[in-house]
Amino acid sequence: MTPLEQIIANDIRANGPMTVSQYMATCLFHPNHGYYTQSTVFGSGGDFITAPEISQMFGELVGLALAQAWIDAGQPRRSTLLELGPGRGTLMADILRATAGIPGFHAAMTMTLCEASPKLRDIQKQTLAGYDITWISDVAQLDDAPLFCVANEFFDALPIRQFQRNGGHWHERTVGLQQDALCFGLTKSPTDLPQLTARMDDTSDGDIVEICPQAATICAQIGQVINAQGGLALIFDYGDWRSLGDTLQALRNHAYCDPLQTPGQADITAQVDFEALAQATPSAYSRLTPQGVWLERLGITARAQTLARNLSGDALDQHIQAHRRLTHPDEMGTLFKVMALFPKTTNHPVGFEP
Ligand code: SAH
Repeated sequence: MTPLEQIIANDIRANGPMTVSQYMATCLFHPNHGYYTQSTVFGSGGDFITAPEISQMFGELVGLALAQAWIDAGQPRRSTLLELGPGRGTLMADILRATAGIPGFHAAMTMTLCEASPKLRDIQKQTLAGYDITWISDVAQLDDAPLFCVANEFFDALPIRQFQRNGGHWHERTVGLQQDALCFGLTKSPTDLPQLTARMDDTSDGDIVEICPQAATICAQIGQVINAQGGLALIFDYGDWRSLGDTLQALRNHAYCDPLQTPGQADITAQVDFEALAQATPSAYSRLTPQGVWLERLGITARAQTLARNLSGDALDQHIQAHRRLTHPDEMGTLFKVMALFPKTTNHPVGFEP
């Protein structure tokens, strides 16, 4: 048993089963044993590898898209450059390097990272040494200023609630104990939420739907700032339009494992329901676009060719692999999507079709 499994089991013995959402939050953010609070989890040596860790090209193109939005907005002097859930800080480092030559861009920005894990903040400080960075733990702390924002694999890390349909009712999924082992269960009394009532038409008995309350709240908050002040948010994640089914997954050492096993030592995520994000924001939102398509529209192939000129041997092979990994439909190109939030009064941002 991991130390966290012991803590969770004791909690269940004392207080009864916990919701999937409480379980997920505990696994990721328990102060001493949570996945994000305790470990240095990213990169090829970690449990999973994210787009910015695969290649610098990802962050470069995100940086240029945000800078283009800032130019289109009339280069507002007092703006916020925000990353949600920056991990090791690699994406922000690539964004800042790629935009260093854009006159006035860095000077206009309050460079802001929203990060909940003290340990990851320390790593971000090292990666971004030399830049003047502000850390926040809640988007409610954002200035009322034009907002240029990116989130990569952030929303998938927010705790989800799961509900299973039984006749005309929905019962919340829980984590309990059976012979001292963690197991899934359901609450006896049904839950009544407008989002669940709305799903009566496209589900049948036994189906599971997921709701991520924190994702809706955060999306509403950044969407409100963007709509009122101007700006752009680029939200990259794995997921689709409308959630159906149990998408809770755990990754350890680049392999899937049972989410109830080794809590605190595996990364637990759920697919992002982009429709729920779109419904939560008061701003305009783009079509949900495959990551590979967006990167191609932004010119990743030309950038890859330029970088390839200085590479040979293994480094060149790795670079070609990285391009493929980010864009190819069999790799991250289609599973990962991007959606933009932008003011209702402006045109679609670069890389998105109306
Ligand atoms: N964007 C990075 C890392 C993704 S992992 C990359 O692409 O490599 C998820 C990140 O979100 C971690 O940094 C984690 O600590 C952070 N995080 C998760 N929930 C959060 C919350 N509620 N508030 C702030 N940061 C959070």
